[in-house]
Amino acid sequence: VRARVMQVEKKPEVSYADIGGIDEQMEEVRETVEMPLKSPEMFDQVGIDPPSGVLLYGPPGTGKTMLAKAVANQTDATFIKMAGSELVHKFIGEGAKLVRDLFELARQHEPAVIFIDEIDAIASKRTESKTSGDAEVQRTMMQLLSEMDGFEDRGQISIIAATNRFDMLDPAILRPGRFDRLIEVPKPDEDGREIIFRIHTRNMNVSDDVSFEELAEEADEASGADIKAICTEAGMFAIRDDRTEVRMEDFRAAWEKIKQAESEEDDEVS
Ligand code: ATP
Repeated sequence: VRARVMQVEKKPEVSYADIGGIDEQMEEVRETVEMPLKSPEMFDQVGIDPPSGVLLYGPPGTGKTMLAKAVANQTDATFIKMAGSELVHKFIGEGAKLVRDLFELARQHEPAVIFIDEIDAIASKRTESKTSGDAEVQRTMMQLLSEMDGFEDRGQISIIAATNRFDMLDPAILRPGRFDRLIEVPKPDEDGREIIFRIHTRNMNVSDDVSFEELAEEADEASGADIKAICTEAGMFAIRDDRTEVRMEDFRAAWEKIKQAESEEDDEVS
């Protein structure tokens, strides 16, 4: 069970240079997470508790997971990821135990970054309906809070959580000593999009007619993940056309295709 819910990576291969358009957020994550991992003794000597959990929130595909991985890379830490949704949906009755296992695993792999994705799945506001599923979710969250509270002597373990549904969170997890550093990771603006296009085309054979500036302007509303998908899809268009050089028209066609696919998805949801 544990293997399917937790993903462990020794020093993941993501660096800060792979992340574009969210410099301020990156700085803040570095300040809060790197220091306690690299120099825990500083906090002892100064006599303050290191920041506990960092919560990243914002729309999907904006680089939250990347940020957590890059911190682990930079600090030579093991990256341990757990998805909140999998935890409660697939393994009813196991949630609290899995949370205990998660922290145990981190202690064995110090320094470690624990990344809890979709934390809203285990820490959402109490809903009206009191089904047994809710009670299970509640127990899982209580276990998480108690692990975090009992963490004075946590050594070199950092906890980063992420959510797309900030509004849904139970205020209990935002109390001091828990996830009390909140960092919003928004979709990139136009300059950010241009940087992200450059990052994802670094290894691509791009024709001279490609303007990243124009692409950034045209791909309005695209997230980092969308831009990554546009680049891959543009490459596919070139291959289908039997070319090895990727042109502006390929990028434009790719964006059209991805936009289309996303609006169809939205239609299905609503
Ligand atoms: P989710 O909320 O859906 O889990 P996320 O915010 O954690 O999303 P990531 O998993 O970090 O998003 O991003 C998915 C992929 O999109 C990355 O592997 C990367 O290729 C690309 N990407 C997203 N944001 C950025 C960014 N700011 N700079 C460069 N690439 C990005």
